[in-house]
Amino acid sequence: MEQNSSFAQSATCLKQAVPFMVKYQIPLSPMNYAIWYCYVLGKEPELNQKLDEILMEHGTCPPENAKALFDEFLSEQDLALFHEMSDLVKGTLNTVEQEISNTLNCSEEFSAVLSECHVGLHQLKKQNVGTGPEIYDGVLSYVSKLTQESIVMQHNALCFQKKLEGAYSEIKQLQETLIVAQTKASTDKLTGLLNRGKFDDDIIKFCDDPSQFQKVLIFIDIDHFKQFNDEFGHQRGDDVLRKVAQKLQSHSEGQGAAYRYGGEEFCILISFSSISEAVGFSNRIREDIAKLSIKDKETGEVLKHISASFGIALYGKEMTWHSLVECADKALYLAKSHGRNRVEVAG
Ligand code: GH3
Ligand code: MG
Ligand code: MG
Repeated sequence: MEQNSSFAQSATCLKQAVPFMVKYQIPLSPMNYAIWYCYVLGKEPELNQKLDEILMEHGTCPPENAKALFDEFLSEQDLALFHEMSDLVKGTLNTVEQEISNTLNCSEEFSAVLSECHVGLHQLKKQNVGTGPEIYDGVLSYVSKLTQESIVMQHNALCFQKKLEGAYSEIKQLQETLIVAQTKASTDKLTGLLNRGKFDDDIIKFCDDPSQFQKVLIFIDIDHFKQFNDEFGHQRGDDVLRKVAQKLQSHSEGQGAAYRYGGEEFCILISFSSISEAVGFSNRIREDIAKLSIKDKETGEVLKHISASFGIALYGKEMTWHSLVECADKALYLAKSHGRNRVEVAG
């Protein structure tokens, strides 16, 4: 019971904290989680005040401010809060397990009474106590005993079912809140691609993955994008970003992951069996993007063609994810300086 109520309380805090974190684009890290959990709990008014001031100033809580808040108001122990949620889920499962065991014990008792009655009734029959009213007394006493026991049994089964339903919906709700929050937190609003924060997480796992395939990072930058904004306005500039993103998404789907790295820069994390496959893949996207254009909305006349430059970097044994990013960036720079709308591979 105790466990249940603290689970419900923590789940409530989580449900309140996570939407805040999503709203202010705070990464769902243990440290941030501890800060926002504390904010929602409201037990450190000074933390709430400082965090409100930071949000007013920056519209989010930058990592250095988060670190300072954490150092001032929280301890390493508080990091455990994030992990506590999974412990609480386990706690609920333990409670349910205990309930199952209780119910099994009750049903064992019920079985014992049942077999006792069975034996008793069998003996009544064997003793053949005639057909007078006394036999009815014997049978009635067993029936009454069984009725009592089955009422207890039904009650237990009902309580058990209610507890199971409660635990199930708690866990389900918590899971749904987290899934929605995680998806929102890792998606770029404008293009629907994965965002920079997600890329920063994924590239580390990508480089650590012991796959036999050639791991590739592709940087993509729209050519002369500033001119789209300058000539046709920011909104049409946004349309260009969405169109290009859609091409990156459709080509990467099922093979790799496409991200908006920032502004008009994108990237793809993907594996191939050879370098030439990576180049072929990039050229197909590049050609597809080069078919896009900005058109006059009324006449349909092509006003400006869209193109993008690609820089490919291959992950090698001696590399870190930092150097992989650096290489892709250098290759992209080469593609720009060699005339744009082309693919270059890092040397
Ligand atoms: P280059 O071919 O060398 O890449 O030239 P460029 O014009 O594409 O590059 P530059 O870095 O000079 O300009 C990028 C522009 O992208 C500047 C910035 O205003 C614009 N931008 C960044 N984010 C957005 C956005 O979300 N929407 C729109 N419409 N424009 C954006
Ligand atoms: Mg550009
Ligand atoms: Mg750029």
